[in-house]
Amino acid sequence: MELNLSILIFALVIFTAVGAEKARFDNYHYYTISIENELQLRVLRELSEVSDSYTFADPPTYVGSSADVIVPPHQFAHFSELVEKFNLQTTLNSDNFQKLVDNESPKRQRKADLGDMDWTSYYSTVEIHVWLDKLQQTFPQYITVEEIGKSFEGRSLKLVKLSKKQNNRAIFIEGNIHAREWISGATSTYVLNELLFSSDPEIQDLANNVDWYIIPISNPDGYEFSRNSNRNWRKTRSPVSTLCNGVDPNRNFGFNWLTADESGNLGASRLPCSDTFAGSRPFSEPETQAIENFLSQNYAKFDIYLSFHSFAHMMLFPFGHTSVRIPNFNDHLNIGQAAADRLFAVDGVRYTVGPTRETLYAASGVSSDHAYGHHRIPLSYTYEMRGNGDYGNHGFVLPPEFIIPNGKEVLASLVGMVQKSRQLGYFKNQ
Ligand SMILES: [Zn+2]
Repeated sequence: MELNLSILIFALVIFTAVGAEKARFDNYHYYTISIENELQLRVLRELSEVSDSYTFADPPTYVGSSADVIVPPHQFAHFSELVEKFNLQTTLNSDNFQKLVDNESPKRQRKADLGDMDWTSYYSTVEIHVWLDKLQQTFPQYITVEEIGKSFEGRSLKLVKLSKKQNNRAIFIEGNIHAREWISGATSTYVLNELLFSSDPEIQDLANNVDWYIIPISNPDGYEFSRNSNRNWRKTRSPVSTLCNGVDPNRNFGFNWLTADESGNLGASRLPCSDTFAGSRPFSEPETQAIENFLSQNYAKFDIYLSFHSFAHMMLFPFGHTSVRIPNFNDHLNIGQAAADRLFAVDGVRYTVGPTRETLYAASGVSSDHAYGHHRIPLSYTYEMRGNGDYGNHGFVLPPEFIIPNGKEVLASLVGMVQKSRQLGYFKNQ
C-alpha cells in the first residue's frame, strides 16, 4: 500500500513536470493526402481513430477529398509503408511542423499595451478580455461586456454585446470553441473592431441596425493549452478518464447529441481520448453549459447564429446528423451563397456552401445545429475559414499575416449575408 502510494506520488510529480513542458514538433512532417478510393478512406479513418501519435489536422471524410496529417519522426517508416501499400498520393507541406508553429508566433517587437490590439498576432485570452473591458469603458453607451460563466479551470467566459439602437434583431458569434483554430477567435475580434471603427457605409449599416453578441474565446482553457502546451489541442481541458482530458465542445450540445446518421455514423466519439469525444452527457462542459444558459434566455433576439472555425473554406448549415433537408434549406443556401460571393470578391477565396452532413461530414451535437434545431434561431452557419489555399498550406497554424485578409473577407461575407437575409424577410421589427 505504502509502495503504491509512493509510486502514485512519484507519478504525479512526473506528470506535473511533463505537464509544464511545451510540446515541440521538431522535424515532424506535415502532409496533405488525397483520398482516391474507399480502401484509402478506411485506412486513414482507422489511423485517425486508433493512433495517438499521428495528428489529423483535417480528418479523412470522403473519397475525393483530402486529409492533413502530422507525422512524428518515430512513425516515418510506418508512414512510408502505408503510403506504398495503399498507394497514397501525398504532398509534403512542411518537413518541420515546429517551424510552422514558430513562424506563427514571432517574438513581438514590443509587449502589446494592455487593451491595445492590432491583428498582426494572436493574443491571449487575458489580452482579449482586457481589450473588451477597455471598449466597454470607451463606449459605455453601446458596448456591454458580460461574464456568462467560467471555464473548467476557472477562466472567464466573456461575451461582448454591441447595440446602437433599440429593437434591433441580433447576430450571435461564437469564436474559438475549438482550441487550435486560433484564426476563429482573432476573426471575431477583428469583426467587432471593424463594426466599431469602419467608415464604410455597409459596415456602419451592420453596426447600427443589427445587435451583435460575440464570444471571442468560447474555450479559453483549450485555447491557452494550445498556446502554451500543445499547439494541436482541440478540446476542453476537463479530466474525462484516467488517461485523457477534454471533450469536443462542438459535439457536446444537446440537439441530437451523439445521434447516428442514416449510415450509422455517429459524427462524434464515445471514446474519452478521441479528439471528437462527445462528453459523458450533453452540456457536460461548463463552457457549453454557459452558452446554453445564455441562449435559453436570449434565443428570441437572434436571426443568425454563427460558429467560427477553421479550416476548409466552407459555410455549413444544419444538419450534421442527418441528410434530411431543413425547412428553410433554400434560404440557407441562397443567403450563404450571397455571403460567399461577397467573400470571394475580396481576395478570390472560394467558399463552398451547403449542409454539414452532405458537404463536410456527419457531426452530431454541434452548436449551430442546436441553435437552429432546439432554439429555433432561423439562420445558422458554421464558418470554416482559411488554412490551406493558394496562399499556402498551413492547416490551422495560419501565420498571423493572414488574420487581416481572412477578417476582411469574412466581414464582407457578413454584409452579403445580412443584405440577402433582409431581402428574404429576416431581420424584421427594426
Ligand atoms: Zn472547429
